[in-house]
Amino acid sequence: MRTDRPERVLTGLPVSAGIAIGPLHLHDPGVVSVSAYPIPADGIEAERARFRRSVDAALKQIDKLRMRAELLPESAQEAAVALLEVHRQMLSGSRLVRGVDRRIAEQRVNAEAALETELAAIVDSFLAIADPTIRSRVDDVRGAGHRVLRHLTQTAYQSFARVPNGSIILAEELTPADAALMDPAKILGFAAAAGGVEGHTAIMARALHLPAVLGVRGLLDAAAGTGAGATVIVDGVGGQVILDPTPDTLAAYRRRRAALARQRRRLVAIAGLPAVTDDGVAVSLNANIDLPAEVDEARVLGADGVGLLRTEIQFMNREDLPDEDAQYEMLRAVVEGLDDRIVTIRTLDIGGDKRAPALAAHFPEGPNPALGLRAIRYSLKVPRLFETQIAAILRAGAHGSIRILLPMLTSVGEMRQARTIIQRTARRLRRQGVAIADPLPPIGAMIETPAAALGADALAEYSDFFAIGTNDLTMYTLAIDRSDEQVASLYNPFHPAVLRLIVFAVTAARERGIPVSVCGEIAGDPRFTALLLGLGLRELSMSPGSLPRVKERLRAIDAAEAQTMAARAVSAHDAAHVMVLVEHFNAAL
Ligand code: PEP
Ligand code: MG
Repeated sequence: MRTDRPERVLTGLPVSAGIAIGPLHLHDPGVVSVSAYPIPADGIEAERARFRRSVDAALKQIDKLRMRAELLPESAQEAAVALLEVHRQMLSGSRLVRGVDRRIAEQRVNAEAALETELAAIVDSFLAIADPTIRSRVDDVRGAGHRVLRHLTQTAYQSFARVPNGSIILAEELTPADAALMDPAKILGFAAAAGGVEGHTAIMARALHLPAVLGVRGLLDAAAGTGAGATVIVDGVGGQVILDPTPDTLAAYRRRRAALARQRRRLVAIAGLPAVTDDGVAVSLNANIDLPAEVDEARVLGADGVGLLRTEIQFMNREDLPDEDAQYEMLRAVVEGLDDRIVTIRTLDIGGDKRAPALAAHFPEGPNPALGLRAIRYSLKVPRLFETQIAAILRAGAHGSIRILLPMLTSVGEMRQARTIIQRTARRLRRQGVAIADPLPPIGAMIETPAAALGADALAEYSDFFAIGTNDLTMYTLAIDRSDEQVASLYNPFHPAVLRLIVFAVTAARERGIPVSVCGEIAGDPRFTALLLGLGLRELSMSPGSLPRVKERLRAIDAAEAQTMAARAVSAHDAAHVMVLVEHFNAAL
């Protein structure tokens, strides 16, 4: 709709790619106004009961929403269910519920006031934590609290059911639960003044493939006075929201939207082509994923399986530890979503830059976290934690094909110890009559320390497969901390020392007859494809979005020629020389 209002361009964080153009719908969650009033001593029990009834009603509503979530596209279902599960946990005997109950009794105030005060206290304590993933959970706490508040004050939740088809939602804040209620067949995209890239609202947007921009300062002020139905553009690639665009802007964005759609169709078409080099060498291309919501994308873009499922994300997003059942449900969703494709589940790789708040409380960070208690060291130091995770993994293995991958190994002893624990856990579960992977899944080693690479011949005798983690291997080989800006420019996986370690691992695997893959970032970078094929790799694992471009590249490569180039690269004197060789080879493709 054209108006006389000037075009306004606002900038925020692009959290979900794509361009949406349509009429705007301002989302007003309906402010719930709360007044505080005292409760007489003999009314305390009745007030606590009223609060409990509202919590029960909110829990019932969550169950209903879960059923609704099952109607969502498959890609969004898992994420929506996981979010509702977070709300359910926050309302089941949690600090929030206990705190309100206590405040009603101690402060003798009505339940609404007690809830608001407790909510504010929890939000403050979350915001005081530096970790952005914890801070992003503030939205979940508020969402769960407001759900109960609505029941207490009998204020209806504003759903998107009556929003006109093809709308774009603009709001001050959209909770993950709001995003989970959006039907992508009806809503084209959204933007909000609050929110960040790591929050669950952003994760939901990506799972639903809805273009979204969050953290847009002044969004509602700019939209004020703009009537419902005015045109808005949400650019989830560039992170812009454009209100009342001029005809020229509109035309430019329509062209970009069409180009993105063509690009996507081209990538999906590549997914259907075989992953074979120009001289007929077959390569297995797998996906690295963190969440069940990524399974669909991995399948659509042609992954042969999952080469790396990072499990630590489940531990980083919360204050407590996920129990065996919660871990099992998440893993099962991935395994079932991949049908019979193999899913390589890596055990907890916590520590270093990946922090789990519940564990950090027991083991304070050492002077050098990258060299400290992390990954397999953690699992072996806290066997109960490891056994719980292994039990969840083995149970998930009853639903499809899995492999178990151990991170950050430096010795054969670690592999032996881990294997013993895995076997012991399997025996216990079998005795208890629990269905688990049968036979036991292959157990592999991440080769991501120089010790593992140089000792790969010994490690191969105790491992069923290798996965080379070039991110850490490069960091530890070159002694470069990537998060340290002063030296980050020296981080270079083209360094011949890194290549020689890869050759060591590939040779050891080949001699022992076990599979070997690369699952570091370079596996998804087409500049490295020829080099990796030339070093003898036939299995690569990468983020799903990289699969088509790597496949396109490898189909143009002659593996025999790549081998000749790689042999020269390995004996080069420095990274600069390797880069020249590789660029020259790639330019001729
Ligand atoms: C690696 O180190 O290359 C790797 C794949 O593991 P992460 O990136 O999870 O440390
Ligand atoms: Mg690693």
